[in-house]
Amino acid sequence: MSVETNLESMSDLVSLCKRRGFIFQSSEIYGGLGSCWDYGPLGVELKLNVKDKWWKSMTYRDDIDGVDAAIMMHPLVWKASGHVDAFNDPMVDCKECKSRFRADMIDLKAACPECGKSGTFTDIRAFNMMFKTQMGAVEDSASTIYLRPETAQGIFVNFPNIQSTMRRKLPFGIAQIGKAFRNEITPGNFIFRTREFEQMEMQYFIKPGTQREFMAKWKETRWNWHLANGIRAEKLKFSDHPSDKLAHYADAATDIEYEFPIGWGEMEGIHSRTDFDLKQHQEYCGKNLLYVDQADGNKKYLPFVIETSVGCDRTILALLCDAYRVENKSDPDNERVVLKLHPKLAPIKAAILPLVKKGGLPEIAEKIVADLSENYKVEYDDAGSIGKRYRRHDEIGTPLCMTIDFESLNDNSVTFRDRDTMVQERVSIDSIRQVIRDRLKC
Ligand code: ATP
Repeated sequence: MSVETNLESMSDLVSLCKRRGFIFQSSEIYGGLGSCWDYGPLGVELKLNVKDKWWKSMTYRDDIDGVDAAIMMHPLVWKASGHVDAFNDPMVDCKECKSRFRADMIDLKAACPECGKSGTFTDIRAFNMMFKTQMGAVEDSASTIYLRPETAQGIFVNFPNIQSTMRRKLPFGIAQIGKAFRNEITPGNFIFRTREFEQMEMQYFIKPGTQREFMAKWKETRWNWHLANGIRAEKLKFSDHPSDKLAHYADAATDIEYEFPIGWGEMEGIHSRTDFDLKQHQEYCGKNLLYVDQADGNKKYLPFVIETSVGCDRTILALLCDAYRVENKSDPDNERVVLKLHPKLAPIKAAILPLVKKGGLPEIAEKIVADLSENYKVEYDDAGSIGKRYRRHDEIGTPLCMTIDFESLNDNSVTFRDRDTMVQERVSIDSIRQVIRDRLKC
């Protein structure tokens, strides 16, 4: 029986991601750009699968609509939301080595974590994390706009449009996936904290007074979503925000945390945001955003909001960390790195491997690839020994490999090999689709 170990250090994952084409450093040939990353061919497939799964779980139901708002928004949006005045992190510099830190993340009484000198920190300053840019040709302050630091505001400002066009009654939600930008003081840990990232957010509009009930429902729903992606329950926990640490707009908040190799870290925030955002926008835009509750004597009020906000990139990092296993680590001849990704999320669903590049085997393999490609992302691979090809597909998480050998010419069958168990079995070419559907459940 093989002995299995988990991912021990982030650098092993970073190296696999680069070696196998999941994630590259941005602008690498120029030396890279700090904490910006590009998703390579396998990474982009994984990301699309994660987004697709989230999107369907959120919007393929009868109470949530989707939206795709512009990244650039009216500057008053960010004044109303509080981001212009308060989206700050407390920052200190080390006067000695010039390193910059988030004051809430280090012990200011201790020595500088970079240069080891004591008593070198500057006073704490507020650092606004929004990226500014100019809209239009004239560089004056009237044209200053921001890259959005969260997708949520694109949902709040569309509340009246969506409620009326989709004839929605409370409770209902609006979901969105999109890029967000934050000029983080201390980004790092691979794709855990970056300056450009993607969020998957949903705002659920409810009647004031029902927030406890819906907070509980959404906590359960979101927890189960992570489990359904194959993340091990013992690697997840809720972390409730104590009442004295709540953001000014929230009356309750919890994080879903994952145990990364760097320790526990937030993957998703679930917040009870009261009517703060709609109230602020109503005041700043001067328009009536009240909801008329026909089920309650046409009472008018601003709905409360439960928000679920999950980072797409952090989810991907958690999925990769969780799926990364090493078998027989202390035995170099039998060591195997396997990415045990959920088949639905795996970038490539099946590898089609002709044993050799001649004798009619490639033709059979090509026909299978053409047939499966109508529904699945599959890969034709004839490079190197069959053992090496299996190892590569183990490392990128391909759930099934099928090998076409000389027997296939006679028995119209191929050998299926399961990524996790490595068990092999003959499957008739006519039933490949059925077997894939059953095994991958997709
Ligand atoms: P943190 O405390 O880690 O800075 P946050 O509480 O500011 O995160 P939210 O504003 O609640 O995060 O954003 C929701 C989600 O967006 C987070 O749970 C995380 O998954 C993701 N996220 C936030 N900031 C970043 C970042 N700089 N890089 C990657 N993902 C991020």
